Amino acid sequence: MESSGYVLLVDDDPTALKLLTKVMSRNDYQVLTSTSAEEARAKIEKFGQEVETIILDLAMPGEMDGHGLCKWLQEQPSPRKEIPIIVLSVKSSPEDMAKSYECGAFQHIAKPYNAQHLLSVVDSVIRMKHASETARAMAEKYAAIVENAPVGVLIVDSEFNVLEMSRVLSERYAKENSGEPFKTYELLYNPPRTKPDPEMPLAKALQSGKISRDTVRLKEAGNLVWWDMSAAPLTDKQGQITGAVLIMHDVTHEREMEQKLRDEAERNKKAEEEANQNAKRLREVMAKQDDFTDLLMDAQREARQQRDEAEQAKQKLEEANVQLEKLSITDPLTGLYNRRRFFNAFGQEIIRATRYHHPLSLIMLDIDLFKNVNDTYGHPVGDEVLRGMAAILNQQVRETDILARYGGEEFVMMLSETEAESAKIIAERLRQNIESAVFIKNKPELRITVSMGVSSQKGTLEPNAILAAADEALYQAKRSGRNCVVFKAAQAD
Ligand code: GH3
Ligand code: MG
Ligand code: MG
Repeated sequence: MESSGYVLLVDDDPTALKLLTKVMSRNDYQVLTSTSAEEARAKIEKFGQEVETIILDLAMPGEMDGHGLCKWLQEQPSPRKEIPIIVLSVKSSPEDMAKSYECGAFQHIAKPYNAQHLLSVVDSVIRMKHASETARAMAEKYAAIVENAPVGVLIVDSEFNVLEMSRVLSERYAKENSGEPFKTYELLYNPPRTKPDPEMPLAKALQSGKISRDTVRLKEAGNLVWWDMSAAPLTDKQGQITGAVLIMHDVTHEREMEQKLRDEAERNKKAEEEANQNAKRLREVMAKQDDFTDLLMDAQREARQQRDEAEQAKQKLEEANVQLEKLSITDPLTGLYNRRRFFNAFGQEIIRATRYHHPLSLIMLDIDLFKNVNDTYGHPVGDEVLRGMAAILNQQVRETDILARYGGEEFVMMLSETEAESAKIIAERLRQNIESAVFIKNKPELRITVSMGVSSQKGTLEPNAILAAADEALYQAKRSGRNCVVFKAAQAD
């Protein structure tokens, strides 16, 4: 076994020291030597941890013997007090040996010793010391890892007692320095619980022997904190669960962010729903408006229709009135003015002619022996003759003249701005035209003649005077044998 440190040899006998030095050189150990306990103590203080083991004689001169040095070393702080001591002495009664072990010696070998045996003891002692140093370093390293881990780490035994705790947790839960043993459920809960929560990952891992993971919410100094917890069981060589490791991540921030996002999504959803609702309402209002518009349009259409109907009725009425008016002034058989219309127009014309001193003539016309026509050919033929007569007379009148059916087969013609001579000529021409006209096409033998009375006036006269004169002239024409024109000037009364 190679060693970088020293083997401290303590013996008051220089010869014995020399021999021991020689034995140690076989294994290439570096040695320090002391001839008294006091000197050995000074070397230990000087070389400290470099002293790997001490081979110590018991009986030595001076204040301190071998056992005294053992006791002194036991009182030294760690790791110095862990330097193993091998007592090598002639004082090796059972009591001496018992005392050596009592004083903390690792081994008591009686003198005279076997060099090989001593070397193997030294070798194993140094090995053991190295192993325990390595173990301590590892334990320290492991504790430091746990202590300094950036996440919450708890190591517990099977009873939930906290064995190790990382600073992340000790700073938050301020339990580390109380010195009292404590349980996880006393530590993490506010207020502390009296027994474990079986739903927590740690309890599940201890119960089932399997890794358990969950996100849980704990109350911490008035705040709610979300922890992501993973618990893994620890087992011994036989597979018995001896405890568990609990790794905790504070995911409060993430949870809050998630919650915020969820809230925002919820708000967005609500806003969208509200917008949809409003759009729906708007659509409904618009639909109602459409309905209303339809109603309005229907009403308008109906009103228009009624107005149109009223308009049509009014028009029909007007047309009827026109018709009526026309009928009231028209002779239905011939379409000429009737007697009533004639008198109206004639009255106005008389007034005008009198005012402006214009000439005016009148022709009264009566069909000769018309009764015979009816009697011979029938009344409808008589009607046709009357219509034919109207047509012939109509051809002769000017716009300012007035032609009317005066009675059954009697006609009257008022000629404005016409002197007696012109009237006579017109009457005579008419008489001739009528005499030679064929009234009924398939009855060419039916000849019609008329008798006419003509009168004229110029200046101020009574309307009746010219009428009476014309009538008188017509009467004379009949008496003179018919088919002739008789003129008679109007006489003032
Ligand atoms: P005169 O030469 O003396 O005038 O003889 P007349 O036969 O013409 O005279 P009268 O007064 O005796 O007879 C007139 C006839 O005219 C009698 C009547 O039946 C006929 N008459 C009157 N109005 C109409 C009519 O609208 N249609 C037809 N077809 N005949 C009519
Ligand atoms: Mg007549
Ligand atoms: Mg007649």
